[in-house]
Amino acid sequence: MASEDHPPVRPDEELFAESFLIEWEMLDWVTLSSSAARAKFSALAAATNANSDWGDGILVRRVDMTEIHVTASLSRLPKSRKGEILADLSLPCRWTRALKVPTVHPELSVSGWFATMRQIEPAKTLAGEVSCDHLVVGGGWMGLHCARRLAELDPDSSVVLVDAGRIGNNAAGRCAGFAIDLAHNPRNPHFAEDITGNTEEYDINQDGLGYIRSSVEELGIDCDWSPEGKYHSAASENGAENLLMFAQALDNLGQRYSWVSKEEIQAITGSRHYITALFAPGTILLQPAKYMYWAARRMPSNCSVFEETPVTEVNYDAGRPDSRHTCLTPRGSIKAKKIYLCNTGYMTKFGFFDGTAIPLYTFASLTRPLTDSESKVLGARATFGVIPADSFGTTLRRTADNRLFLRNVYSYARDFKASRSDLERAKRTHQIAFERRYPELAPMGYEHSWGGMMTLAQNNGMIFGELGKNVFGTGFCNGTGVSRGTAFGKALAEFSLGKSSRTIDILRKRPSPNKGYPSIITELGVRLTTSYRLKKAGIEV
Ligand SMILES: Cc1cc2nc3c(=O)[nH]c(=O)nc-3n(C[C@H](O)[C@H](O)[C@H](O)COP(=O)(O)OP(=O)(O)OC[C@H]3O[C@@H](n4cnc5c(N)ncnc54)[C@H](O)[C@@H]3O)c2cc1C
Repeated sequence: MASEDHPPVRPDEELFAESFLIEWEMLDWVTLSSSAARAKFSALAAATNANSDWGDGILVRRVDMTEIHVTASLSRLPKSRKGEILADLSLPCRWTRALKVPTVHPELSVSGWFATMRQIEPAKTLAGEVSCDHLVVGGGWMGLHCARRLAELDPDSSVVLVDAGRIGNNAAGRCAGFAIDLAHNPRNPHFAEDITGNTEEYDINQDGLGYIRSSVEELGIDCDWSPEGKYHSAASENGAENLLMFAQALDNLGQRYSWVSKEEIQAITGSRHYITALFAPGTILLQPAKYMYWAARRMPSNCSVFEETPVTEVNYDAGRPDSRHTCLTPRGSIKAKKIYLCNTGYMTKFGFFDGTAIPLYTFASLTRPLTDSESKVLGARATFGVIPADSFGTTLRRTADNRLFLRNVYSYARDFKASRSDLERAKRTHQIAFERRYPELAPMGYEHSWGGMMTLAQNNGMIFGELGKNVFGTGFCNGTGVSRGTAFGKALAEFSLGKSSRTIDILRKRPSPNKGYPSIITELGVRLTTSYRLKKAGIEV
């Protein structure tokens, strides 16, 4: 067949397109796995004059990581034959990809929760080569519970959990220790979502909370577990208005809560700062470092845990039945049939969702234990947890070991790293918050101050599912990770083993994180927004 604007096509070329378009996310190399497939593909490439990396124009679509689908059509055909499919091949292939991943930055300071634990054994790090069925990268709320669930549901398999730092001194162990049952989105001043979001978040959090509770009960973890609920407490009229909006969201959900008068909240906290509060009973308070540390040490026997073992390079290899992904660490390597990326923002350096993470730090401080006379001055309840009425305000706890804990300030973490000046600024803000609440005690200052990273996306999206062949991932808790992160990690394990659950259904429908603006613009935007919101929160800080 020939036309004036189209050269003659030899019969064996009829299969092949003139213009080749590659649509292949995440593709570095494809090795066609059978010689027949290779022959077909080279014939295709040769006939179309495509260069070896296929140049412009073959229409290649990935079916999955083990198969590619090639369709080819002649683009310069007479009108009557335009768009006609001339080739339609499915070719088996193998997916390989090698990536060096950036170092996880050491934290600027040890968290007070970790520093005040009595028994800390040295980290067990990986030296040498190991092989396993399931490798979980990241020992935060997500990774720890993903690994535990995999080990439970697949008892004949081998599970390896690695973390770059100490489990308990990572972001998960550095948090405020509120295992929250309700929707809690710090982007909204009153924390609530719309009715669907509130319902889904509640169900996810219940799943996570139940799993944490089962660890505490079955593994006998001492983590100062206290089902005492939380007080959303306002210090200003604006804060009180936020509480009304939060109450409305709870009414719509049919959730229990109660109003707490000025006198009551002042008696509970020992602070004249607060003017009203809303008590939500379903939250558990715990000592996060103790929980993480001990849960990691009481994993099922088919799970090995390595700390201070950052993955520095990953070689994905999937497609053949005997394929194994390989992760390199400073002194060893791990071959795994399946990898689970639970390393929050760092996941974006592992070849997935590049440029989507907005890394933030928030900061906390802990006093030394109060003396008897200071406790008398305080005159408060033995333990309590306060959530600020404005999400940019100050979180406050009195801990089981009679210390005061405060958290506030968000800052952009360029390259996933907190700066010394951000930590110092947060310490100054913590001191102001201390003076506002406890002027008589504030001169004692703090014994420990620290920051921890959390990751969000511009569109509030999150990661959940199979990211590549035998590569699973979950992340982006948007600031609340205890119950939610636990549910995400547990659900990821269940999903990868073919189970179904309400949490899986919800998470699979959630939008993925979108690509943010260039980091310089994001940084500027985050710094301006967080300063503005901190200022606007006024005395709630
Ligand atoms: C001060 C503070 C207070 C908070 N308070 C609360 C609270 O009260 N309630 C609540 O629900 N949430 C709270 N949060 C948020 C919560 O801590 C996070 O949302 C949560 O830790 C996220 O869990 P995660 O498992 O996704 O990630 P992370 O806890 O960040 O864990 C990810 C892990 O991956 C590891 N990792 C990364 N890269 C690699 C690599 N290459 N190799 C090996 N390991 C790697 C890291 O070392 C890290 O331990 C708070 C956070 C902070 C900082």
